[in-house]
Amino acid sequence: AAICRQVWEKVVEKKEEAPLNAFRIEPLFARELRPLYVHMHNPFIPEEDIVTFLRRYVDVQGSGTKERDEKGYWTGRRRFLVRLRPGAAPEGGVVHPPPAFSIGANGGTVRYPGQPKVCHRCGKEGHVVATCPSKVCRKCGAEGHLAADCRAVVRCNLCGMQGHLYNVCPDRKRTYAEAAATAASKKKESQSARRQD
Ligand SMILES: [Zn+2]
Ligand SMILES: [Zn+2]
Ligand SMILES: [Zn+2]
Repeated sequence: AAICRQVWEKVVEKKEEAPLNAFRIEPLFARELRPLYVHMHNPFIPEEDIVTFLRRYVDVQGSGTKERDEKGYWTGRRRFLVRLRPGAAPEGGVVHPPPAFSIGANGGTVRYPGQPKVCHRCGKEGHVVATCPSKVCRKCGAEGHLAADCRAVVRCNLCGMQGHLYNVCPDRKRTYAEAAATAASKKKESQSARRQD
């Protein structure tokens, strides 16, 4: 893989020059299986929800593993194996997941080899949040206004769909208590339906 990277760096250097500028170049190793590390500030977010979020951007293989320190304590990070997806034409390349994200009100970060250095606020390269020139809305993710001025309809940051938030997202992993409550209310419904017969 190291030799691939060296060749690829040479190619990137010369991509504006003939004859390489005549081709759209995509590194094949960019789609290799690679480790991806997720750190959620709230450790109680279920792994199923993290996977649901990641699947919007990357192909996740298998389940995550909790990273442990020398004493065996969980560091708060999970390691996944993922494959990046090819990007849309004309830019090509691969799709990169956002380096910082939220699930509901819970923030998290994503790290993986080959991750571009981008601003955690606007997602652009070349600067960091402290010097970010753009206004990015925390509510809808759009550029050009802040959350207080947001007129967008609500968008779920777990599944990316409009019209609902994380706490009622149909893709969200239900806790045992919630699943039990739903089952109990279904039972009550069917009992009262029977009584009406
Ligand atoms: Zn920025
Ligand atoms: Zn907005
Ligand atoms: Zn949702």
